[in-house]
Amino acid sequence: MSLIEIGPGISFWRGDRVNAGLVETSRGLVAIDALTSAEAATAMLAAAGRPEFLIYTHGHSDHVFGSGAFPPEVHVLATQATAGEITLHRERYWGPDLDQGVRVLEPDLVFTGQAQLGRGDRQLVIRHLGGHTPGSAVVWLPGPAVLFCGDLAVNGVTPFMLEADFDRWLTALAELASWRPAVVLPGHGDPAGPELLSRVATWLDSFRRQVREEGPGTELSALVDRMMARHGFPERHRFMVEGTVRALLGD
Ligand SMILES: [Zn+2]
Ligand SMILES: [Zn+2]
Repeated sequence: MSLIEIGPGISFWRGDRVNAGLVETSRGLVAIDALTSAEAATAMLAAAGRPEFLIYTHGHSDHVFGSGAFPPEVHVLATQATAGEITLHRERYWGPDLDQGVRVLEPDLVFTGQAQLGRGDRQLVIRHLGGHTPGSAVVWLPGPAVLFCGDLAVNGVTPFMLEADFDRWLTALAELASWRPAVVLPGHGDPAGPELLSRVATWLDSFRRQVREEGPGTELSALVDRMMARHGFPERHRFMVEGTVRALLGD
């Protein structure tokens, strides 16, 4: 884990499991995502400073479970749909973690469409696109053309697709490519250039095509095994691959 300087006042926290971003703005320090645990977030904040704002790119636990380590007065910004994801995940999946003491800050600045923070070269544009999850948003710095894309693009790991809308995801990636980012900072994996966006799009498109072509006449468990092996998914994501295959086959 380390803090990588992307440009003046713009940093990328390359975590072991998940990444985050930090941008100095006219409104103070802004953090993009909260990492997967309070310990991880504490280490990041020790290196980066005290944020005034925290933006959630989406509501997956690996991006919000560290929020309890943030200063209590931090403003948490998220799309309306991400706020909904957090409520849903709290009820459906997070019970055991919350019982163990994980604290997740609720968004207090909720928006639809687009929001902006700061001005000049460090102006942040937060745009709701959906795709990876219904609430997925990106953070775009138009001046230096730096894109924090959350899990809409991941680098060197397989995408997590349990709540994915493939059409929306592919539309989002095409839209992001049209912004001509110089640097693409993924939710997982190393920083990249704009080619990461088309690489992820090609991968998603071919995964969907393979499932739809090979699905009919194949046992579900055999198809899941084949996709797991072919794409090198970690075993802990079997439930995710199965859920995605089922959804793509219209089950
Ligand atoms: Zn993630
Ligand atoms: Zn995610």
